[in-house]
Amino acid sequence: MEHIQVLIAGGGIAGLSAAIWCQRLGLSCLLIEKTDRLGGQLHHIYNEITDFPPLVYDQGASLVKVLIAHPFIQQQNIRLNETILSIDQVTKQVTTSKSVYRVDYLLIATGVGWNEIPTLADCPSVLSPWFSTTAQAHTIAGRDIAVIGGGDRALESAANLSLHARQVYVLVRSSGWRARPEWQKKITGLSNIQVLWETQVSDHQEEEARTVLSLTSKREGNPQTIVVDWILPRVGVHGNTAGFDGLDTFGDDYLQTDSSQRVNAPWIYAVGDVSNGAAYASLSLAVGQAMKAVKHISLQIQNNRSMSM
Ligand SMILES: Cc1cc2nc3c(=O)[nH]c(=O)nc-3n(C[C@H](O)[C@H](O)[C@H](O)COP(=O)(O)OP(=O)(O)OC[C@H]3O[C@@H](n4cnc5c(N)ncnc54)[C@H](O)[C@@H]3O)c2cc1C
Repeated sequence: MEHIQVLIAGGGIAGLSAAIWCQRLGLSCLLIEKTDRLGGQLHHIYNEITDFPPLVYDQGASLVKVLIAHPFIQQQNIRLNETILSIDQVTKQVTTSKSVYRVDYLLIATGVGWNEIPTLADCPSVLSPWFSTTAQAHTIAGRDIAVIGGGDRALESAANLSLHARQVYVLVRSSGWRARPEWQKKITGLSNIQVLWETQVSDHQEEEARTVLSLTSKREGNPQTIVVDWILPRVGVHGNTAGFDGLDTFGDDYLQTDSSQRVNAPWIYAVGDVSNGAAYASLSLAVGQAMKAVKHISLQIQNNRSMSM
C-alpha cells in the first residue's frame, strides 16, 4: 500500500494552493482530483475576477493557466480522474476509485456541488447548474425560462437572463427573498420577470419540445402550470463531503474546522469552499486557509519529531 505524507483531495484553487505550500515547506504530497482537469470552479467563472489581488483576471480559465504553470505545481505528484470514496479513521487509510493509501495527513479541498430538485431529476429542460447566465445567455434568446430559488444567485441569474429571454419566471418557495437587497433591486421593474411566491414544482411534462411545469402554490391567483423552454435551478450549494463519514458538519454539509483548519480528527484538515459555507466562498479565503492548514501540518510533524528524539 502506498504511504503518503499529505494527501490532498481536490484540485481546485484550495487544493492547488495546499500543494504549493507542501512543496514550499518540504512536505511530500499527492493531490487527487476526480475530474480530468485541475481548477475546479474556476473553469465556470466567466466574469472578470477583480477581488483576488493583485491581478485582475478576465475570467477563471486565465487564473487556471497561471496556477498550472506555477513551478511548484509542475513538480507535484498529481493524479486526475481519481475520486476519494471513503476514509478509515482508525487505520488512516483513504480509499479512492483506483487505490487505497495509508496517509499521515488528509487535506480535504473538495469544494461544493449544486443542490438538485428531486422532482426535476429526469427533466430534459433543466440546464446544467454551471450554465453561465452571462457567457451562455445568448443560447436561450427569445425563450421562456423558469429560475428556481430566492437567493443571490437566483436573482443574479434572472436579471442576466431577462436581457435575452422572452419571459423569466422566478419560482420562490418561501414568502420573501433570501437574496441581498442589491440583487432584489436589480430585478425590480424588469417587465419580463414574473415572481411566483410560495411556489414549488410538483411535476413536469414534456410537450412539443417544451416543458409544462405543474406548480403548487400557497398564493391565491398563482398559475397552476407554466410552459417553459428551459429551467435553471438555483437552490444553493452543499459541501462535497460524500465519503468523509464521521466528520462534524454545519449548514449544508460544510466541514467544521478549528482555527487551524483541522476537523474533529487530528489528522484531517479542510480548506476552501467545503469548509466555508456559501457566504464566505472566495478565492482569497481558500488560498489563505490552505497556507494555514499546511503550516499547521508542518508544525505537527516537527513537534512529533522533536518529541520522539
Ligand atoms: C460563477 C462563479 C463566480 C465566482 N466569482 C468569484 C470571484 O469573482 N471572486 C472570488 O473570490 N470567488 C469567486 N467565486 C468563488 C470561487 O470560485 C470559489 O470560492 C473557489 O474556486 C473554491 O475553490 P475550492 O478549491 O475550495 O473548490 P472547487 O473549485 O470546487 O474545487 C474542488 C475540486 O475538488 C474536486 N473533488 C470534489 N470531490 C472530490 C472527491 N471526492 N475526490 C477528488 N476530487 C474531488 C472537484 O472536482 C474540484 O475540482 C465564484 C464562483 C462561481 C461559481
